[in-house]
Amino acid sequence: MESSKLKETYEKQQYQNQANLVYVNTIIIGAILVFIYFFVLQTYRVAFANVLLLAVSYMSIKLNRKEQYALSSLIFITMVAFTAFLQIHEFGLRTGFQYFYLNLSGLVMFTNWKPWQKAAGTILLVSIFILSFRMSYQVSPPVELNYFWVFFLHSVNILLNVAGVANSANYYITITKKAHQTLTDLAMKDYLTGLMNRTSFDHFLLELCESRVKKGHGMSILLLDLDHFKRINDTYGHLCGDELLRQFGKILQEQTRKEDCAARYGGEEFVIVSKSDSLMETSLFAESIRKRVHDMQFNYKGQMISVTLSIGALFISPQAATHRQEALELADQLLYRAKSGGRNKVISDQLAS
Ligand code: GH3
Ligand code: MG
Ligand code: MG
Repeated sequence: MESSKLKETYEKQQYQNQANLVYVNTIIIGAILVFIYFFVLQTYRVAFANVLLLAVSYMSIKLNRKEQYALSSLIFITMVAFTAFLQIHEFGLRTGFQYFYLNLSGLVMFTNWKPWQKAAGTILLVSIFILSFRMSYQVSPPVELNYFWVFFLHSVNILLNVAGVANSANYYITITKKAHQTLTDLAMKDYLTGLMNRTSFDHFLLELCESRVKKGHGMSILLLDLDHFKRINDTYGHLCGDELLRQFGKILQEQTRKEDCAARYGGEEFVIVSKSDSLMETSLFAESIRKRVHDMQFNYKGQMISVTLSIGALFISPQAATHRQEALELADQLLYRAKSGGRNKVISDQLAS
């Protein structure tokens, strides 16, 4: 629930930013065109239509902020279509304003209109597109532009429309990538702590075991289990237990190097797999984690809570030919011994051959 809300907020923000980018750019370019139409070409009808376009773009930004996406895109697309139509009428097809109909048909797909509204919008835009062709060939345009201005306007319109298509494609790629990343995270990460989940840990361990044999280095497997965690839940509540697991996950993340891995093995049980050269190194590493957790106090809404943990630490020497399942079972036995030996303990051992 939490992650789908986050996704929704993210997508909303992405959409708002993207739509605003289109509106702001329209205002900037529209303002330049208004200046040219008023003072240079003195084509007042077109100038006035572009002033209207600026006002509508501004309103679209306002509506966008109020999350009225359907209305903001409707008035914007309608106004651009109208302005393009007027400019084709005034200057003819030579100025390239017809390209906007193709671009607007693409934009329609990015709106949150209902499917039938999208279909109707697209059909309408294509119809105006075809109509503008008919109109231009039947009636000669009332405004005669010289070659420079035809060339200028046509070039600007090509540029704007190519940029528009590239922008839409880029937006689509960005949100698709983000959605892919979200799905990968959901599949690979533990939702509470952000550490690897059991599935991705199994893959990691398999790869590490294989590369260990190839490269001939030792490794350690640490199984960590919080002591009397049930009591924490019973005393402070389940939410407090969750928060504590989150903070504990952070500590494990800090303790592991980039090439190593910390994962949530299940419930309040965690696992760390790392490269190691000796049983001594493995034991010292496990002991440093045990001590760090023992010495610290977790903060939950101002309450300071102490916890301890038990660790089963197994060092696997480079020569040991061990299956990963066997190694995990051995680490689990060491953890069991740490628990039955009074908890808040590290029990370590090694597999030498
Ligand atoms: P021990 O020292 O023997 O490990 O005692 P324990 O109470 O920690 O062990 P036990 O396995 O009996 O209980 C584990 C508890 O961890 C039970 C369960 O309520 C709690 N737990 C497991 N997953 C979560 C979780 O995601 N959130 C919270 N808040 N509690 C969890
Ligand atoms: Mg426990
Ligand atoms: Mg447990």
